[in-house]
Amino acid sequence: MPETYAQRFRRSIAERESYWAEEAEAIHWHRRWERVLDYDRPPFARWFVGGETNLCHNMLDRHLPERADQRAIVWVSAELGKTEVWSYRELYARVQRYAAVFRDLGVGKGDRIIIYLPMIPEALAAMMACVRLGAIHSVVFGGFAPANLAQRIDDARPKLIVTADAGIRAGKVTPYKPLVDRALELARHPPARLLLIRRGLDPHCAMKAGRDLDLAELAEGKTGAPIEPVWVESSHPSYILYTSGTTGLPKGVQRDTGGSAVSLVHSLRRVYDARPGETYWATSDIGWVVGHSYIVYAPLLHGMTTIVYEGTPVTPDPGIWWRIVEEHKVNVMFSAPTAIRILRKQDPKYMRAADVGSLRYLFLAGEPLDEPTYHWVNDNLKRTVINHYWQTESGTPMLANCAGVELRPIKPGSPSFPVFGYDLKVVEPVTGRELPPGEKGVLVAKPPLPPGALSTVWGNDQRFLDSYYGHFPELLYYSGDFAIRDQDNYHFVLGRADEVINVAGHRLGTGEIEEAISGHPAVAEAAAVGVHDEIKGQAVVAFVVLKNEARLTPAEAEAAIKKQVDDVVGPIARPREVHLVPALPKTRSGKVIRRAIQAMAEGRDAGDLSTLEDPAAVAGIEKAVKGG
Ligand code: AMP
Repeated sequence: MPETYAQRFRRSIAERESYWAEEAEAIHWHRRWERVLDYDRPPFARWFVGGETNLCHNMLDRHLPERADQRAIVWVSAELGKTEVWSYRELYARVQRYAAVFRDLGVGKGDRIIIYLPMIPEALAAMMACVRLGAIHSVVFGGFAPANLAQRIDDARPKLIVTADAGIRAGKVTPYKPLVDRALELARHPPARLLLIRRGLDPHCAMKAGRDLDLAELAEGKTGAPIEPVWVESSHPSYILYTSGTTGLPKGVQRDTGGSAVSLVHSLRRVYDARPGETYWATSDIGWVVGHSYIVYAPLLHGMTTIVYEGTPVTPDPGIWWRIVEEHKVNVMFSAPTAIRILRKQDPKYMRAADVGSLRYLFLAGEPLDEPTYHWVNDNLKRTVINHYWQTESGTPMLANCAGVELRPIKPGSPSFPVFGYDLKVVEPVTGRELPPGEKGVLVAKPPLPPGALSTVWGNDQRFLDSYYGHFPELLYYSGDFAIRDQDNYHFVLGRADEVINVAGHRLGTGEIEEAISGHPAVAEAAAVGVHDEIKGQAVVAFVVLKNEARLTPAEAEAAIKKQVDDVVGPIARPREVHLVPALPKTRSGKVIRRAIQAMAEGRDAGDLSTLEDPAAVAGIEKAVKGG
């Protein structure tokens, strides 16, 4: 009898160490670990202590005897109408050359490299070359603005930054290099070197003498002895990925090496039911965690082919994704509800036109999956659609219908059950008391978290403790999400419990946006809230109090504020609406009551406002949202 989900789950918690020791056999260890888990200093967990490995070796060298000619990367740029296939052998050669370039520029174990690139296969090669040397990458999403990039540079203090002349989306070329130049001017600790990948998209792309180098030119000359992988201890950081929290500065989620490799392969086998030699397509971007885990690391660790896609779901037409599935025989696909909602606006004939027979599953995550969207895609695609839930912090799913072990009946809207190793509970938001099925509370995990979960916040253990473990008397990992669990253990995630906005599956902190807006000289103060949006799940709405001396018309102010957010955070955070109001509702202690503002912005009742400092502020917000 095959093991059931429930049996395996119990084993993953009750016999944690033997469970993960067994899973760790899927990885090549240069030196075997001495202890499966070091949990002497809760909640800090170190997995496979003393073990030595290398991610890049596990993604490439190890597969070469068997898979040299197998496709490693299929790059499809719908924007440029181009497809490029890199075999494992070819990817290996490219990674070798990049690693040689990095090494010759002085990059070694523990050094940081920032990668600010569009969706091109070179981005994967750069990430892999970095971990081959035991260096730590921080990929910054190409849509982020210079100030935002500068913040990350100052936190990560990289030796190098790798970028391209430009990205392209929906036919529009966005030059990257000037953005990076600006970020390097703004940063207090800029890297000494910038490596440029020329795509030929921006003829005006200029180099700064003494700092900028052409990566392809340098790489071409690197044909010397192979660069051997640098074996690192399991808990050595492999990367930093910044993510928004409730306060202004993004947190650098730090991920280890050994635990991460084990958890990624485990997830492909046990959750995604994906097999070596098959083709995996995550439609995300390398700048997000889904991109790290399921465009780059997991598929290559598992000997699969990964699709790297540059484009939108609807260019040149809404059938493009399904034609890619057909042409490249995609077996497992991963996307976000927003993308499906965009497609749902189109005729389903586009989806039905292609032969998607190779596809076993479509996994969706990043934001709540509403039932109508689930039914639409399920009915039209006629493949198994699985909603699952996870976070930058976990690196792999926390809630899922674990198809690789036992596909249980699907309840639309529910990301289903705790994934192996995640001892999840729904608790009362203040006391942390566990709630019975049917009651809404906050989703938490009893530590230690399984391998692959964040090790800490880069350079800031205290922030790790405060942000994730400081909410309850008992030591519990705080997810930041509201959830409810039913009698059958199906979980439903109901949105954020903290002040984080989720736009199209991308996490934005209210603090970041407010700080950006307040940076405008005409602004006295601002509140940003997330409101329901048909397509993107949530959209940003800003309420802004201008300074008395500001001499802007409302239209000018709105345009200036949107531009300010574009310039400081990036266009993904641009408010859908900007309302100018005389005051923000605050408690007597001066705290802005965002929850009430959000309720009013969504046309709901603002609730009990008895602790308000200035009741007239509420009237001002109501008037603004009603268009007064
Ligand atoms: P990120 O770290 O940017 O991937 O964002 C993680 C957040 O996205 C979670 O904390 C949730 O708020 C949200 N999220 C991810 N997956 C789901 C899902 N299946 N259902 C509801 N919310 C989700």
